[in-house]
Amino acid sequence: MLISAMMALSLAVVSWGREHDSLKKWAGALALESVAFLLIDARGTIPDGISIVFPAVLTVAAQALKLAAIYEYRDLPWPRWQCLLPVGLVILIFIALPYDDFRGRLVYGSLIYGAQMLLILQILRSDTESRAGRAWWLLFGATLAILPFVAMRAIAAFFRLVEFATIESSVAPNPVQMAIFIGFIAFGILGSLGFILMVKERADRVIRSLAMIDSLTGVFNRRAFMERADKEYAIAQRNKTPLALLMIDIDFFKRINDQFGHPTGDDVLTDVAHLLESRLRKQDTLGRYGGEEFCVLLPATDDAGAMAVAETLRHTVENTPLATERKSISATVSIGVTVCPASCDSCNIGFGKLLEDADAALYQAKHDGRNRTVMLQFGCRNTAAA
Ligand code: GH3
Ligand code: MG
Ligand code: MG
Repeated sequence: MLISAMMALSLAVVSWGREHDSLKKWAGALALESVAFLLIDARGTIPDGISIVFPAVLTVAAQALKLAAIYEYRDLPWPRWQCLLPVGLVILIFIALPYDDFRGRLVYGSLIYGAQMLLILQILRSDTESRAGRAWWLLFGATLAILPFVAMRAIAAFFRLVEFATIESSVAPNPVQMAIFIGFIAFGILGSLGFILMVKERADRVIRSLAMIDSLTGVFNRRAFMERADKEYAIAQRNKTPLALLMIDIDFFKRINDQFGHPTGDDVLTDVAHLLESRLRKQDTLGRYGGEEFCVLLPATDDAGAMAVAETLRHTVENTPLATERKSISATVSIGVTVCPASCDSCNIGFGKLLEDADAALYQAKHDGRNRTVMLQFGCRNTAAA
C-alpha cells in the first residue's frame, strides 16, 4: 500500500500542471490501488461491505486508468467503453450477487481483471516504436506475468481449492493466497516502473531527435551530419574504401525568397531536401549544412559513382516543380564533389580536408555559371560536368 502511495505521490508531483500527461493517469491508478489495499487491510474495523466491494471496484478502476494512460502515452483517444465497461460490470456483479457469495465475486472479478490485462497487452503489442526500447518489455512482461496469478485466483475460487467462504478466508495467508498477493504486488510494481521508464525512454528519443534533426527539412542538421561523417570517414579509412562528399547549394535562392516570400522559400528548401533524400541509397547520409546548403556523404563510392549521383540529383531538382502547394517554382543547384579514394596516403588528415575541397569545388561550380557539378579531389584533379 505504501509503495503504491509513494509512487503515486512521486508521479503526481512530477506531472503536476501538465496537460494530457499519461503519468498523471498512472499516478491516479496507483492512488486508487493504494486506497484499495488500505481498505482490505482495514477489514474488521470498517463495515464488511466497504472492505469487500470498494477494493474490487477500485482495483478494476485502477487498471482502467492504466489502460487510459497507455492510450494517452500513444497519443490515441482512449476508447471509453474499454475503460468504463469493466468498472460498470464489477459494480453490477457486486450488486447482483448475494452478499455472502465471496467465491462468485472472486471468480467474476478475476475474469474482469484478466480481460483488462489482455486489453493492456493488446494496446502495448501494437506500439512498435516503444517496443524497440527495453522499458516496454518490462511493462509488457510484468502485465503478462500477472495473468497466471489472476487465473490461479479464479481457478482456486471456482474449484474451491481454497476456502473463500468468508471475507477472512478470502484474504487468509494460505500458500495460494500468499503467492497470488506477492505476484500481484511484485509485477504491479515492475509494470509501473516499466511504464515510467517507457515515458522516459520516449522523452530521451525526442530530445535526441531534436538535437539531430533540422526542424524545417527533417534531414540531419549540421552537427548530426558531422558526427556521422567522422564515423563514415573512419570506417572508409579502416576498410580502405572510397568516400565521396557532395556539397549542394541552391542557386540564386535569395531571389526566390525576395520574389515569392520567405514561407515559399521554406517550402522550396523542404522540397529540395526531400527530393535529394528520395534519390539516395539507404547507406548515404544527407544533412542540411547551412541555410540553403546541403551535404551528402556517399560511402564506398568512387569518382565516377559520385559524379553520376551528383548529376542525378542536379537533374532531379532542375526538372521538378517545387513548392507546388503555394506556387510552382523551378530551381537549380550547384554541386561540389570530392572523393577520398580507396587507398590514399594523404587521406588521414581528416574529414575537414574533404569538406574544404568540396567547398572549393562548389565555389568553382558557382563561378563557372551555376547549375553544374564540379569535382575536385585533394587539389589533384579538376573535372567539370555541364
Ligand atoms: P548563390 O547562387 O550564389 O548561392 O546565391 P544565393 O542567393 O542562393 O545565395 P545567398 O548566400 O546570397 O543567399 C542565401 C539565402 O538563403 C539568404 C538567406 O536569407 C536564405 N535562407 C537561409 N536560410 C533560410 C531558411 O531557412 N528559409 C528561407 N526561406 N531562406 C533561407
Ligand atoms: Mg545559394
Ligand atoms: Mg549558400
